[in-house]
Amino acid sequence: MVRVRFAPSPTGYLHVGGARTALFNWLFARKNKGKFILRIEDTDTERSTRESEQMIMNDLKWLGLFWDEGPDIGGEFGPYRQSERLHLYKQYAFELVERGHAYFAVYDKNDPKNVLYTTTEEPKDGNPYTIVFKVPENEIVKFNDMLKGEIEFSTEHMDDFIILKSNGYPVYNFAVVIDDHLMGITHVLRGEDHISNTPKQILIYRAFEWEPPKFMHIPLILGADKTPLSKRHGATAVEHFRIEGYLAKALVNYLAILGWSVDEEIFDYTQKIDSFTPDRISNKNVVFDYQKLEWVNGKHMRLLTMDELYTHFEEWRKFVGAEKQIPREVLEICREKVNTLKQLYEFALPFVDENYEYSQEYIEKFAKKPEAVSIIELALERFSSLENYDIQNVETTLREIATSLNIGTNKVFQTIRGALLGKLVTPGLFESIVVLGRAETIRRLQRALD
Ligand code: GLU
Repeated sequence: MVRVRFAPSPTGYLHVGGARTALFNWLFARKNKGKFILRIEDTDTERSTRESEQMIMNDLKWLGLFWDEGPDIGGEFGPYRQSERLHLYKQYAFELVERGHAYFAVYDKNDPKNVLYTTTEEPKDGNPYTIVFKVPENEIVKFNDMLKGEIEFSTEHMDDFIILKSNGYPVYNFAVVIDDHLMGITHVLRGEDHISNTPKQILIYRAFEWEPPKFMHIPLILGADKTPLSKRHGATAVEHFRIEGYLAKALVNYLAILGWSVDEEIFDYTQKIDSFTPDRISNKNVVFDYQKLEWVNGKHMRLLTMDELYTHFEEWRKFVGAEKQIPREVLEICREKVNTLKQLYEFALPFVDENYEYSQEYIEKFAKKPEAVSIIELALERFSSLENYDIQNVETTLREIATSLNIGTNKVFQTIRGALLGKLVTPGLFESIVVLGRAETIRRLQRALD
């Protein structure tokens, strides 16, 4: 059975690159009816935190990338947190010494940089020791990467390396092999930045006479300047995009098309599992395009029914603590012009904010100008006496105002728009006026004259 894992180090937030690695593993597991495992690689004692672990798990859940085994839900092959597996690393490091593939390096306890001696017997003189892997001389390490084909390394320039530190913690390259083996991992899909670690890991597999998993090293996500995507290029945290009002499905859709070719550009990833085959994964590095992501998000937003949109919007509002409640009918008329939930909130705010501000543009072009005053005064009069306050009648009224004052309709519309919502870019004017309601429209027109 296919078993894959996502193995984040909990030293910060979940990066979009990590999220894409998790996605590819998730897809591969689902496609092959296998298992997707979450393993927390918290052996960097200084940088690992439980908060980060929690954040990463929250983000993965938000993205919909649920795991079958992991630190929170357990599983047959646990524990799934490396800091809880130290006894295993010790046991296997000792086994490598016994097998003749590793040795103890003993340090002076008063001068921990100074190696006193190396030995294959467990040191018992009270000095700290590490366990060091003995790299075989002039050996060729070959593996067949699922994406890159055959890769070859020579051990010629490789030094012996520590596998177990004096504090009892393993190094990444050792822990990863022990865990991947004991957890029955069949395929390792990870970022290309790990490719130089793979030969060391393969040497460890050989030393144990274990079968290594198959490897697929996924091309990196780059910024516009073609260097690996980092904070310098803009936001990289999954959580950032959640706060900015992106939909999880849209973010995953975008991450999926970064390096995986699917026939359509806009899709629900849970419907595309069958297309996830290695031959469709690109072997080229890909550039993260923030504008494209926003466009993808806009597409997803417009595919939602009003009920779905409302649910997502309320979820987002709660998540970020955005205070103002926005009525559904306001969201409905605002949704066409925006690409994110946050933009939707901001676009809709003037409808619910009694003290909405007038934009600079409105102030300069219209506010309190004689023509604007006469437009607003007439609108006040007509709207107050309008029999049916509906879109059709509102439109007719505004057109009549233009005619009777002999002012262009555009100017009338913009004056009223700015007076009612402060801005000159708003949802459709007639719908807006109806959604505001007669009483509020009148109050706002009055306010513009005060
Ligand atoms: N903890 C490693 C990382 O976060 C995992 C690498 C791997 O998948 O082997 O980069």
